[in-house]
Amino acid sequence: MIDATEPSPDASASVPSAARQRATELHALLTRASHEYYVLDRPSVSDAEYDARFRELQGLETAWPALRTADSPTLRVGAPVQSAFARHAHLVPMLSLGNTFSADELIEWEARLVRMAGRDVTESGYTVELKIDGAAVALTYEHGVLVTGATRGDGTTGEDITANIRTVRDVPLRLRGDAPPRLEIRGEIYLPFDKFEQMNEARVREGEPVFANPRNAAAGALRQLDPGITAQRPLRFFGYTAVLPDGLPPADSQWTLLEQLAAWGVPVAPHRARCLSIADVNAWAHNVEHVVRAQLNFAIDGGVVKVDRVRVQQDLGIVGGREPRWATARKFAADIAETRLLDIKVNTGRTGVLTPYAVLEPVFVGGTTVTYATLHNADLIASKDLRVGDIVQIKRAGDVIPQVIGPVPDKRDGTQRPWQPPTHCPSCQSVVARDEDGVAVYCPNVACPGRQLEGLVHFASRDCLDIEGLSYQRIAQLLEAGLVRDAADLFAITVEQLVTLDRFAEKSAENLVAAIAASRAQPLSRLLFALGIRHVGAQAAQLLARRFGTLEALADASLEDITAVRGIGDVIAQSVRAFFDDPTTRALLERLRDAGVNLREPEAQQASATLDGATVVITGTLPTLSRGEATELVERAGGRVTGSVSKKTTFVVAGAEAGSKLEKAVALGIEVIDEAELRRRVAG
Ligand code: NAD
Repeated sequence: MIDATEPSPDASASVPSAARQRATELHALLTRASHEYYVLDRPSVSDAEYDARFRELQGLETAWPALRTADSPTLRVGAPVQSAFARHAHLVPMLSLGNTFSADELIEWEARLVRMAGRDVTESGYTVELKIDGAAVALTYEHGVLVTGATRGDGTTGEDITANIRTVRDVPLRLRGDAPPRLEIRGEIYLPFDKFEQMNEARVREGEPVFANPRNAAAGALRQLDPGITAQRPLRFFGYTAVLPDGLPPADSQWTLLEQLAAWGVPVAPHRARCLSIADVNAWAHNVEHVVRAQLNFAIDGGVVKVDRVRVQQDLGIVGGREPRWATARKFAADIAETRLLDIKVNTGRTGVLTPYAVLEPVFVGGTTVTYATLHNADLIASKDLRVGDIVQIKRAGDVIPQVIGPVPDKRDGTQRPWQPPTHCPSCQSVVARDEDGVAVYCPNVACPGRQLEGLVHFASRDCLDIEGLSYQRIAQLLEAGLVRDAADLFAITVEQLVTLDRFAEKSAENLVAAIAASRAQPLSRLLFALGIRHVGAQAAQLLARRFGTLEALADASLEDITAVRGIGDVIAQSVRAFFDDPTTRALLERLRDAGVNLREPEAQQASATLDGATVVITGTLPTLSRGEATELVERAGGRVTGSVSKKTTFVVAGAEAGSKLEKAVALGIEVIDEAELRRRVAG
């Protein structure tokens, strides 16, 4: 690293060639990393490494300003938009934040503010907030109704991801109370840890590559072209600011702005505080880093310190077009430990994808002992040059999922061996194949016991056919005994067969057979999810079952019919079609039918649970729901709320003091229902 601690203020001073060369290297490295992080959602360097290199480049540019080219990564926010989405121009640029990494740096930051302003700008104190490690979005509301959602993009232009934003459950589709005619609310979309873990577990079961961390999973989900896929990722939202068309926030301080957001029904992150001095800010940050962080169900990568008064913020302005001067991030150290990589093993997933994972010497990191970590795919292992026997650095990504950052090459002693990607499936020894994008290798044998095992575990799991007592071990046992090969075989198992197996008594055998028999009555939506159609999660399965009602109808539906289901896009539709076009699928479904498995969605679920395609008008004061909440209910069930009654209106929800709209509905013979009936129709 070049020592840039003694900067030369002279811009024209000649730049030593070593500094120029290093700056060029850093420029290239940071540009590539930004692209991987923001555009591909697949970072290959850690955030700490990125931050360190960023600072190194900043240091060089301060020492030799001639190095600060117009396209320097230190002057940029995010990365240019490169996607199939429409572009969305932001009302006011969405900026990045400067960083501080210690209490001393924060004190220095404050001193700099005072120096720059030439007066004491600290009297109004600070609002401090958690720095949510998610993806930044801007939500535009017109008269309180959500009209657009966009990513940050390069700060000036983002991607229009409105359809995806609408699937995020706690983004209000309508603000509570009075809202200005036009308003942009900004915040962070994130994925809670527990949901992230469940999602990765499901992906392993389905043979899909797992996500490296909740941030990438959230950012990736937001940029799906198929909103049905986004809807399957349980995304959440925290708002932290808002701007009016004049570029100013609708409040005179950051603290009151957060209160206003909460009053509009926007979720605001907990643990925010008002601090009168930078010493208080440091005490808050210490507590968040060492106490609060471990208790949160979402990832943070620090705190954000904001000068509270908006007027003072305006005076302080922006630095380098990239970050506000009046706010800074206080980043926390990543929790990293070192241990030995004992082995690299491979797991065969349900769809055959082979996922390598690390077997580690147990190590304590981020509050728990870590023994295994996923390594995602062979390319990643090669790019990190991981060798069996290496000392490796482990991080709990977003504090939960253990991640191997990379080897510590200096600690090699010559006994390390490079790892060879599998040429054969570890479960059935078939020769492996590569998938279309060439990253994952998979076992092509549909009868592979490893695939069958994972497939059956999914089939019997709680969200699918929910077969009590059919655990992973039991399924492995049934496969080994040759009693089952696929899901349809389960229904033919008898008590007599089971009692011949180890650890089965008469009673437990009877219970299992009864549980399997009972699972035949599960609704079609669960069966569809259980079948493990690629990209079809629980939610898409529900939408399909409700729309088509029976398995036959879905199996015979055209690609256009499937794509026409609200919430289902091309990717899911194509996968569903391909599944039903496969002769092995048809044969399996025949056998399930013969076994008496229910292939219908109950009528009640079909007709009343969805308002797919319905146009609804809400009028009058409803007994318990606000207008916004009722709108949300309708929209989440697939319906659309409009402001006026016409022949196209499907039904009107009327409350107290409903006026002309109710009269018009009656005159046109349109059905009128109350809140209770609306609740019944959307339940389910
Ligand atoms: P940032 O993440 O450091 O800070 C700005 C962002 O913080 C805002 O855009 C906003 O989305 C978010 N934020 C969260 N909570 C907030 C709150 N309460 N108030 C205000 N903002 C809040 O900056 P950035 O420009 O998004 O990204 C830079 C960082 O991303 C780097 O420091 C690095 O850690 C990471 N990064 C990593 C790689 C990599 O390859 N690993 C590449 C590029 C960037």
